[in-house]
Amino acid sequence: MELVRGCVCMQWMMTIILCLAGIASLRADGIKVVCTTFPIYQITRQVTAGQPGVTLDLLLPAGLGCPHDYALTPQDMRKLAGADVLVVNGLGQEEFLGAPLRQANPGVTIVDSSSGIETLADCRHDAEDCEHAAHRANPHLFASPRQAGRLALNIAEGLAQADRDRAGACRRQADAWAAVMTALADDFSAVVRELPNNRIIQPHGVFDYLARDAGLEVVGTLQPHGHEPGASEMLRLVGLARTRGVGAVFVEPQYSDKVARTVARELGVPLAMIDPVASGPADAPLDYYEAVMRRNLETIRGIFGDGR
Ligand SMILES: [Zn+2]
Repeated sequence: MELVRGCVCMQWMMTIILCLAGIASLRADGIKVVCTTFPIYQITRQVTAGQPGVTLDLLLPAGLGCPHDYALTPQDMRKLAGADVLVVNGLGQEEFLGAPLRQANPGVTIVDSSSGIETLADCRHDAEDCEHAAHRANPHLFASPRQAGRLALNIAEGLAQADRDRAGACRRQADAWAAVMTALADDFSAVVRELPNNRIIQPHGVFDYLARDAGLEVVGTLQPHGHEPGASEMLRLVGLARTRGVGAVFVEPQYSDKVARTVARELGVPLAMIDPVASGPADAPLDYYEAVMRRNLETIRGIFGDGR
């Protein structure tokens, strides 16, 4: 019994020593920040760019897209083990982390980028079943520039708490980038106001925040969480889209556009390729998020062709 108690005591002491060593190394060698997903990594880059001593790493593959069914690899576990700070999307997007993270790095500081941001329900096919989804938050804040700015402010605050030396720089850079994102979000709203029809069908729940913030109305969602709709669900969605007079079907590069193409053809409306920046190239330039969103803006502006 004494031996067990002694062991527990030793473990506590070791933990305290390791923690103190961690703080010391954080001051001396800088800070190792790991971000779970591609969009959160891109936003965190804006907050920390140019700051000496910050090592930033992306956990999941850049080309993965939404990690709705992801399982960690041994390489992921190594990245987690070496992190001082882990920046997460939150809102259930990292269900794969739980126990493996506690095992790999129980002392890591977790910064939840979505903390305190008002969320939408993660609806499945259309507004009717939103009520059933009310308990589940939609995790795709990153796909709306307005929300991306808020994520940056949250990330800066989290990093500022973890590393006081860089607090001022993180907050300044996040403020500046959030202002750019707010202006861009205003541009989206202005473009959507001019569209002859603001009603869309989306591939999965990824555009709910972008749509709400820009003034688009999502009439239906084709593939909630990547699962293809059955024949009767398709018929119901097409019928609903006809009744509501949907103007366009959005597709995203992260998912197959097969179902969307069929639906758009049925409805006789255009397809619009909109990239939510859920994934991207591993060597994406610093302004990647903004550049892709500006391209999305031009695609939305051109949905109905010139002169309409
Ligand atoms: Zn998703």
